[in-house]
Amino acid sequence: GAQQGILIKDAQALETAYKIDTLILDKTGTITEGRPEITEILWVDNVDVPYLSRVLLAIELQSEHPLADAIVQYLKEAEITGIDTESFESFTGQGVMARVDGVTYRVGNLRFIEEEGVNIPDELRLKTEFFAVDAQTVVYFSRNSTLMAVMAISDQVKEGAAEAIGSLEQMGITVFMLTGDQKETAAVIANKVGIKQYMGNLMPADKGNFVKELQEQGKIVAMAGDGINDSHALAQSDVGIAMASGTDIAMESASITLIHSDLNQIVKAIKLSKATMQTIRQNLFWAFIYNIIAIPIAAGVLYPVSGFLLNPMIAGGAMSMSSISVLANSLRLKKKSIN
Ligand code: ADP
Ligand code: MG
Repeated sequence: GAQQGILIKDAQALETAYKIDTLILDKTGTITEGRPEITEILWVDNVDVPYLSRVLLAIELQSEHPLADAIVQYLKEAEITGIDTESFESFTGQGVMARVDGVTYRVGNLRFIEEEGVNIPDELRLKTEFFAVDAQTVVYFSRNSTLMAVMAISDQVKEGAAEAIGSLEQMGITVFMLTGDQKETAAVIANKVGIKQYMGNLMPADKGNFVKELQEQGKIVAMAGDGINDSHALAQSDVGIAMASGTDIAMESASITLIHSDLNQIVKAIKLSKATMQTIRQNLFWAFIYNIIAIPIAAGVLYPVSGFLLNPMIAGGAMSMSSISVLANSLRLKKKSIN
């Protein structure tokens, strides 16, 4: 596994992976590259853009979310400098909130902004629909209960993602996509990679609960994700798979880590699990059949019938051969192709 970039934390994961019938994929950072870039910031008319840009930078500098990095990158390129914030709070899967000069600012998804009673002007709402159709994530920026800006952020789908999802479905695995991003963007990305079942606007706990629901229906569920918001679902799933490009907490919660963060490695991990279990079964068969036949002979069952007694030296040698055959059979796994 390690040679193929698949790090397996415990034997349990390897023993379960071949039984998976359902795979849940996170969107941002798992199906997409996780290297988002701002394509456009639309400011509301008559706002103090230079000052608000500084506030936005100061807030997102404190967030670890990949979207925050994209915003920081964009503002830094425009040579914006930060400002002091009084408080900062992060709401996983929704956005961030901070106070500057006694005013509350929020940066995050639509639901998060609306909690503050923010209205989205009609013409901007229309634009955000265009962004979503273009598979872009829309991030909102508000000051108290007034919208200041919307940002369109694009993140490319990983190369080979559609192909990997196709292979998984051919293996009889049902694939779902879950995301904290809005439904419209989720729909476009899911469509691009050929996923039929997806859900958007999810909170981290929703992802975990969804895994649990499937398990209660008797499904064996694998979850692949990269973020803090996936850790609940990763821990709940039968096999948690983390992207090495993601957060430490995702890797800590998962039992398998994919070094190249490539979805095709999930296919390989399942094939490796199948091959390993097959080897284990062969080994058990050979070890038992050998002993079931040879031990009674060594004990002299044939003596009353034919007078045959097994020389203890040969019996000892045969015993070692049994162990060696198991080892040799296991080593064949190294040559097995899981591509
Ligand atoms: P996913 O489930 O696709 O990995 P997340 O749950 O991490 O996505 O994020 C869900 C949504 O929350 C994002 O699409 C974004 O709108 C919003 N969000 C979360 N944190 C931030 C942040 N620091 N800055 C801007 N938006 C954020
Ligand atoms: Mg993610």
